Amino acid sequence: MTEHDQAAPDTQWDTLLYNATLATLKPSRIPYGRIEHGAIAFSGDRIAWVGSSNNLPDKTKECEQQIDCAGKLLTPGLIDCHTHLVYGGNRAKEFEMRLNGATYEELAHAGGGIVSTVTATRNANEEELYEAAAARLKAFMRQGVTTIEIKSGYGLTTADEIKMLRVARKLGETFPIDVVTTFLGAHAVPAEYKERLDDYIQLVCDEMLPAVARYNLADAVDAFCESIAFSTAQVERVFEAASQHNLKVKLHAEQLSNMQGAVMAARHNALSVDHLEFLASGDVPKLAAAGTVAVLLPGAYYFLKETRLPPVQALRDHKVPIALASDHNPGSSPVMSFSLVLNMGCVLFGLSPEEALAGVTRHAAAALGLHSEVGTLEIGKRANVALWDTSDPAELCYSIGGDLCLAAVTCPGRTNRTGRTGHRGDTDLHRKQECRATRFYVPAADREPLFPSPARVRYRVQA
Ligand SMILES: [Zn+2]
Repeated sequence: MTEHDQAAPDTQWDTLLYNATLATLKPSRIPYGRIEHGAIAFSGDRIAWVGSSNNLPDKTKECEQQIDCAGKLLTPGLIDCHTHLVYGGNRAKEFEMRLNGATYEELAHAGGGIVSTVTATRNANEEELYEAAAARLKAFMRQGVTTIEIKSGYGLTTADEIKMLRVARKLGETFPIDVVTTFLGAHAVPAEYKERLDDYIQLVCDEMLPAVARYNLADAVDAFCESIAFSTAQVERVFEAASQHNLKVKLHAEQLSNMQGAVMAARHNALSVDHLEFLASGDVPKLAAAGTVAVLLPGAYYFLKETRLPPVQALRDHKVPIALASDHNPGSSPVMSFSLVLNMGCVLFGLSPEEALAGVTRHAAAALGLHSEVGTLEIGKRANVALWDTSDPAELCYSIGGDLCLAAVTCPGRTNRTGRTGHRGDTDLHRKQECRATRFYVPAADREPLFPSPARVRYRVQA
């Protein structure tokens, strides 16, 4: 055994991936927690062994499925910890009008802005929202994403917020990917509550949140704290209501101005604060003390042509975990390429490739409260991994677009807010056992399955 080898005591292995370049992303003095000629073994839905192929124990022989990774890079499955994947319509027309010189008034007159997405989302039924979001979800799955967070926030009525969250839950039940849902009722002020923001917040707290909690539709609660959305005091009311339902909180904060939202969120032990371009360096220690993750969203920074950078060095200095996410949404970050997100994290925000990769694995897991379940290649964690057509982890951040993901392995389960996993409704034991016994191999659509027996390819992501 070397210092890297880890073994779970006496478990039966069913799958062994060997001869891989492992980037475990475990905190380590070795960059990326890298292990050359590495191997990883699975037992059911868990990682049972991680280490050097040279040190594999005798029982390896009994492992039913053994796969030679030919030196390729194996990482934890990637995690997109901030998306708005479910919505009606898109805003390509508005994008075109803007670039053709339309004024703000002309855009507003044409029904542009978030209002247009709210209208399209309200007008869409569950099936339509599901179909549109499924296509986007598959694009992320093909890029090695095995856990994704999806927010509500374009319905802005109780029924429409519930509709969005039901669609998000259904995506997680249908596809071999973990979907974590977030209730974002306080995302924007609906037209019918213009000038009546406090009344809308009351609706969020007294009607929407209790309904969402009753149907167990959200794993966390989020809000948009900004001069164009809700004040710090209004968001605090939402957070207090969330805590009454034992829901963790997170916040869109300090994107366009310094509202002190991040500091308030840290006071409420927020899982994460997201955006942060206007976060003051002096406030960073408060995030560190609360264990709140800083989620950076370079897609919105790029698309809105922002110029103010988040205080990355202060976050580093105070050891605040930095996550990176797509913020996929139709208005400010219509990004479908996760490799572009990694690249923008490096080029625009100055993250090192190792920081960027930790930002979509270990720290993204923490931003969802799942750090003990996913995000690193470690014994006992979920067997969620991605295999890449390179042996160099930096290439995942360097290459823009492209198609490096050879395969992703997940065991589909539902992640609940306590951080444990398993299908919702644990009384359905049969379904749960089925889940534990099934592992999905997800090769990119146009590649031959890496794994030797096609019968083992349980799911293919079609374009
Ligand atoms: Zn967002």
